[in-house]
Amino acid sequence: MKFLKKFLTEQCPTCKKTLVTPKVSSFCGGIVKSCPDGHYKKEYHPALETYIETE
Ligand SMILES: [Zn+2]
Repeated sequence: MKFLKKFLTEQCPTCKKTLVTPKVSSFCGGIVKSCPDGHYKKEYHPALETYIETE
């Protein structure tokens, strides 16, 4: 299950730290994951079934 493991252990593309989930966004119930050092952020929107990434 390499795909699943990769999905669950996402890393910052800049510093390779594991992304953390600081909070659950109230917007559309989206789930935010971000680099602890603020390099990268991604937000999952269940309604859209997609990620929005911010570098
Ligand atoms: Zn980083």
